[in-house]
Amino acid sequence: MNSAGPSARALDGAAVAAEIRDALRPRIEAFHRAAGRSPVLGLLLAGSDPGSEVYVRNKIRQSEGLGIGTALERLPESAAFAEALAVVEAFNADPGIDGILVQSPLPAGMGKNAERRIFEAIDPSKDVDGFHPVNVGRLVQQTPALAPCTPSGVMELLDRSGVELEGRQAVVIGRSDIVGKPMSMLLLHRHATVTICHSRTVDLARVAARADVLVAAVGRPAMVTTDFVKPGATVVDVGTNALTDRNQVVSIFGAGSRKLAAFDKRGRVLCGDVHPGVAAVAGAVSPVPGGVGPLTIAMLLSNSVRAAEQRLRR
Ligand code: NDP
Repeated sequence: MNSAGPSARALDGAAVAAEIRDALRPRIEAFHRAAGRSPVLGLLLAGSDPGSEVYVRNKIRQSEGLGIGTALERLPESAAFAEALAVVEAFNADPGIDGILVQSPLPAGMGKNAERRIFEAIDPSKDVDGFHPVNVGRLVQQTPALAPCTPSGVMELLDRSGVELEGRQAVVIGRSDIVGKPMSMLLLHRHATVTICHSRTVDLARVAARADVLVAAVGRPAMVTTDFVKPGATVVDVGTNALTDRNQVVSIFGAGSRKLAAFDKRGRVLCGDVHPGVAAVAGAVSPVPGGVGPLTIAMLLSNSVRAAEQRLRR
């Protein structure tokens, strides 16, 4: 599979994310003129997960770069659930906070259902991640809602890349609350015929190969191989998997690949759920990194501006 040269168009998430950010600038300025201040995103980072540190730093940098203010509250790994709840309640009550983001994962010591409980505590009008049950319900009913960032970003990527959805077969692999399920809803609302696959789906490759638009949101490196893909299909790779085993990098990307060179420099590379060989069969593929990732943050910024505008209108 590695010998096949890529022919698929790369769906450029970074370029689409830049377009989204540019479109937000005048809205942020208009909000500033009307409210006399910037939109502000409140973030809670609890614990010391290294990935979360990077994500939160990135979200703050991009928000501030666009003129969205941020208020970061940090809690130690040992913090109790009640402390996290108190931060969210303070953000809810603060008229100067327009959006609230609680970075996952919360420390394990906060208990099994801590994330679900904290998401439910966020004021739905400030819920920029779109995880509150009220926003999930609104999404299902197709009434205006703050929708989860990653699937919203995928829709922007498809739309701005000119991919048709109406009447097309869309297959989503993955049924999580944050990606697979909302992704399926958004595709359904655009009149695609949607199939949702998961770990119990029988004959997954055959089902996936029906898709005109295939979205992989699994978390298994290079699982989606050419036999999953109808020739010419559009393939969106949500998977973000860190590879730390050199042999795995060689077996997926090949011995002379740029990924292997990058691995040899850094000891780690990112790999999507889609095998690189798929580029020889698909019509378009989103790369990892540079595909869905930049859009997730762009949609967080978009939801933050939207939440701020909605508060102004109330
Ligand atoms: P989850 O682990 O919550 O869900 C994974 C889904 O994949 C589940 O529905 C699971 O099925 C399904 N699955 C697991 N193994 C298989 C299999 N062998 N065959 C078919 N389906 C399978 O992950 P998330 O939805 O949170 O994330 C998915 C991926 O997307 C991850 O790599 C994550 O890092 C990435 N991600 C990337 C983002 C970005 O900004 N680019 C943002 C969010 C996530 P079941 O329900 O039966 O267990």
